[in-house]
Amino acid sequence: MSAAGVMNAPILPGATLGVLGGGQLGRMFVHAAQSMGYFTAVLDADATSPAGLVSHRHIRTGYEDPQGLAELARLCAAVTTEFENVPAAALQTLALTRPVAPAGEAVAIAQDRAAEKAHFVRCGVPCAPYAEITTPAQLAAVDASLLPGILKTARMGYDGKGQARVRTPAELAVAWDDMGRVACVLEKMLPLAHECSVIVARGRDGSIVNLPVQRNLHRDGILAVTEVHAGNVPASQAQQAVAAAQSVAQGLDYVGVLCVEFFVLEDGSLVVNEIAPRPHNSGHYSQNALDVSQFELQVRCMTGLPLVQPRQHSAAIMLNLLGDLWFKDGTAAASTPAWDQVLALPGVHLHLYGKAEAKPARKMGHLNITAATPEQARAVALQAAAILGIAPF
Ligand code: ATP
Ligand code: MG
Repeated sequence: MSAAGVMNAPILPGATLGVLGGGQLGRMFVHAAQSMGYFTAVLDADATSPAGLVSHRHIRTGYEDPQGLAELARLCAAVTTEFENVPAAALQTLALTRPVAPAGEAVAIAQDRAAEKAHFVRCGVPCAPYAEITTPAQLAAVDASLLPGILKTARMGYDGKGQARVRTPAELAVAWDDMGRVACVLEKMLPLAHECSVIVARGRDGSIVNLPVQRNLHRDGILAVTEVHAGNVPASQAQQAVAAAQSVAQGLDYVGVLCVEFFVLEDGSLVVNEIAPRPHNSGHYSQNALDVSQFELQVRCMTGLPLVQPRQHSAAIMLNLLGDLWFKDGTAAASTPAWDQVLALPGVHLHLYGKAEAKPARKMGHLNITAATPEQARAVALQAAAILGIAPF
């Protein structure tokens, strides 16, 4: 077989698949890969990482450890990532000897808000007006039309961390000082009607499929609720969002699962927020409400297996389970939420990540609620929320 032929042959079950990062996304990737008959290896320094705990192999080193990376390459037929802040160089090193999806180059763009926004502009997809702030001169030159705005660190932000809301140039200057004058972007604060996201999966051959458009509710900068059913977002917005997500993926020549987050503004226009080069929290409902989950798509992309368009068979609501729920009555000691009570409700699927300790704002798990109709899903989700102490939505 020619070298190209070898490259294009799919990696079949029985092989070992590797993932950089041992968090919950890695754990759910491992579950999907194993259920298809693959062996798995996780690279994560934490001995109790959610994915490391359930993987066949767990390499306990940092992402930049040459021996750890060499061991991962030795064990695995292909490698993926579950964490966007894994050093792009680690992915590029692995790619010298193994198929890696997504590629380090694409992950590098998603790691940097400024590079990410430049990519949106290149793809002709509208994003929030912004300015890069890396020097005092850029700070001084900020256009007043960007205020009030949100100052975001260019790198390493997640779950609303590394962000400050600022109204005036003086507040902006203080916020940038507080962030240690690291590279930032200032985004104009936009009037949001709601938020949505689209997850696409793109194969080595350029084939592309997408999950249905997800409607997302954030609380304190953290995803709280995702609702997915036909009509949750007006059809024209949904079509635009899917087309924009496809062009963002194609523009990166992306291979793998990619999430594109959007703002829908009060005037109905659609603005891209950011991308995640991996499965996404807003796609977790796919485990129970679609016939192909985002994690199975991740396996299919990295192995070169065919991609099929997922079909939604149930209306779905996903509720994130944050560590706060373990301290429901303001108690100092953690107590296990009433899982038995929520599991008595129809169509409730519990997913816990095996994290040793519950802490406020830590993502401990999620509930997927599936039902025949959106109204039924909502009624059950509200009951589950009331039992657990999640505010109604
Ligand atoms: P994650 O990676 O967990 O999705 P993040 O920390 O990268 O989050 P963003 O997605 O940039 O943060 O922002 C978090 C939330 O803050 C958004 O989902 C939205 O609710 C709000 N937000 C961010 N930027 C803006 C903006 N320009 N205008 C209005 N609201 C915004
Ligand atoms: Mg976000």
